[in-house]
Amino acid sequence: MSENTQELVIGIPRGMSYYGNYTFWYGFFSALGFKIILSDPTTKQTMSDGSALVVTETCLPIKIYLGHIINLIKKGVKNVFVPSIQSIAPKIYNCSKIRGLPDLVRNVVKGDFNIIEATLDKSAKKQGLYEFLKESVKPFGITDFDKIKKASKQGWKVYNNFHIMMRSGMSYKTALKNALEGKLSVDSEEKTGLINVALISHGYNIYDERACMKIIDKLEKMGVNVFTALQLTDEQMEEGISALGARRYWANEYEMTGAAGHYLKDNKIDGIITLNSFGCGPDSLMIENITRKSKHFNKPLLVLTIDEHTGEAGFVTRLEAFIDMLFRKKRSKLINKMDINEYEYKPQTNICETVLAGMDK
Ligand code: SF4
Repeated sequence: MSENTQELVIGIPRGMSYYGNYTFWYGFFSALGFKIILSDPTTKQTMSDGSALVVTETCLPIKIYLGHIINLIKKGVKNVFVPSIQSIAPKIYNCSKIRGLPDLVRNVVKGDFNIIEATLDKSAKKQGLYEFLKESVKPFGITDFDKIKKASKQGWKVYNNFHIMMRSGMSYKTALKNALEGKLSVDSEEKTGLINVALISHGYNIYDERACMKIIDKLEKMGVNVFTALQLTDEQMEEGISALGARRYWANEYEMTGAAGHYLKDNKIDGIITLNSFGCGPDSLMIENITRKSKHFNKPLLVLTIDEHTGEAGFVTRLEAFIDMLFRKKRSKLINKMDINEYEYKPQTNICETVLAGMDK
């Protein structure tokens, strides 16, 4: 592929790291003159297309990701970006499925397309971010390092703006839209719920509305303010990991153990919900640790597991029961806190007086 002989087009699947990193890739590829084609939002078809390609035990996010690759192929996209993110910091690793994503796609998806694969492995020598970026655009004939470096700055700008807006309390959709439009605003959207819940999971579980059955919308409709890892800084999550006596091993340890540790300590949070995919090895370890430690913080915790067969009715019932319990707990806490002696008790006697007056007649 030569840079100047054809239009630069890259397909990005709306799955896995899309939910955390798309803003970077948007800024980076756009600055290099690429036209970006995104797969469509997840549907039932996306799930069944992906599920048909792998064994049942594979986790839902990977099945969904494969469905998005099929969607891009159907759209006629020839070059699909499938990075292999091995390690994001020295000795901090991703799960084997994320590490081997390009190999998985190559082996199970048949079609006329190229996999644009680049490897980020910060635990290996000479595998830093710039090597990763160079590898990502080399197949398109882009090798000018200064150009790549400049484009990465644009990527970081969009990425940082998105995270600033998320941390200010903006909703995911608004922050993403603003960041992609080059806007930065820190007006937080007023939270009006009576209960505060921390939703602990990966971006691809909670911001893919089909995968999580719109859990955030459902909670908000129940009068709940929802907090996630995207509202926290790395330092807060690092501190959260220490609070749970853990150490950072998995690449997504920040958004799981770190966010849970932070919110367990946070007095404004009434309860924690963890959402994981059936068959996820790293989550089963991290959630076990979160569950054990949550007892020391005396904070209610609900563990939800999803796969492509999860029924919405049962899912909602469990959510409602948990939120109902949190409301009751909060109400009794408030009543106990009230100092009844502060108020003068005056029985309401008007009704009795009226009745007695009527009897005299
Ligand atoms: S971390 Fe868990 S959910 Fe994510 S890809 Fe790996 S196994 Fe699947």
